Amino acid sequence: MGHHILILGGTTEARALAAALAKTTHRVVLSLAGRTRAPMAQPVPTRIGGFGGAAGLARALRAEGFDLLIDATHPFATRISDNAAKAALETGIPAFALRRPPWERQPGDLWTCVGTMREAVAALGDTPRRVLLAIGRQEAALFEEAPHHAYLVRSVDPVIPPLTLPDVRYILATGPFDEAEEHALLVTHRIDRIVAKNSGGDATYGKIAAARALKIPVILVERSSEAGLPTVGTVPEALARIDHVLAPGRKRGV
Ligand code: NAP
Repeated sequence: MGHHILILGGTTEARALAAALAKTTHRVVLSLAGRTRAPMAQPVPTRIGGFGGAAGLARALRAEGFDLLIDATHPFATRISDNAAKAALETGIPAFALRRPPWERQPGDLWTCVGTMREAVAALGDTPRRVLLAIGRQEAALFEEAPHHAYLVRSVDPVIPPLTLPDVRYILATGPFDEAEEHALLVTHRIDRIVAKNSGGDATYGKIAAARALKIPVILVERSSEAGLPTVGTVPEALARIDHVLAPGRKRGV
């Protein structure tokens, strides 16, 4: 008999895991924050919007009788991951995270690694640069602190309100982005700095590979330390863990 599984999503991996689970007897709900104006079609039923913190998530897990919670949110979505760990602890419902590993520096990469987006702003320096901001829209406004650079801002949805910067252009686009495409973008816009998050995965690695080829420095915001849930790195590992955790006769909370 299938179990009732809640996936916290908003990532390619969450969608792929949901698609794999849709072929099983498990009943799966995929939860999205509701940030994207036109979210992609999903292979399982979805619910949209916050739960109301860790306590709200715990209430939803209990009220809807979930047997397993999977945090497959973006590596930089730290609040929801923290909530997931707390709600799992509070309810005793088994939980784990599906989190793609970060990118590793390769020979030829010109990376400056920083801990926060504010540090990324500072790392751009005093010399005017032509910057690709590939960080999403939520923290783009921090770059108003460095108005002497020219910015090309790429995001899924528009940056609202628009940035108060003298030289800023916007591209609305949803990944994946391959290396050839990224190479062309960097050359066309004469980009000489990239600001990105170390998200890991293939979908947005194209800009990192293209920057290496073009010898463009990348300011890379690293992840903060991981939340408390046990973590797997790939969808097949997640499926194996689900089988293990939900195996008949297994006690809860493992
Ligand atoms: P966040 O700061 O960790 O979360 C903020 C609040 O949004 C959470 O406290 C929660 O509200 C709600 N929330 C977030 N993810 C949710 C989900 N999957 N289902 C239901 N509620 C959710 O997250 P964020 O950085 O704003 O990211 C929002 C979503 O976009 C995430 O689902 C993430 O996977 C996706 N995303 C984020 C990034 C990024 O770079 N941050 C990139 C790509 C995709 P309540 O406390 O009210 O429950």
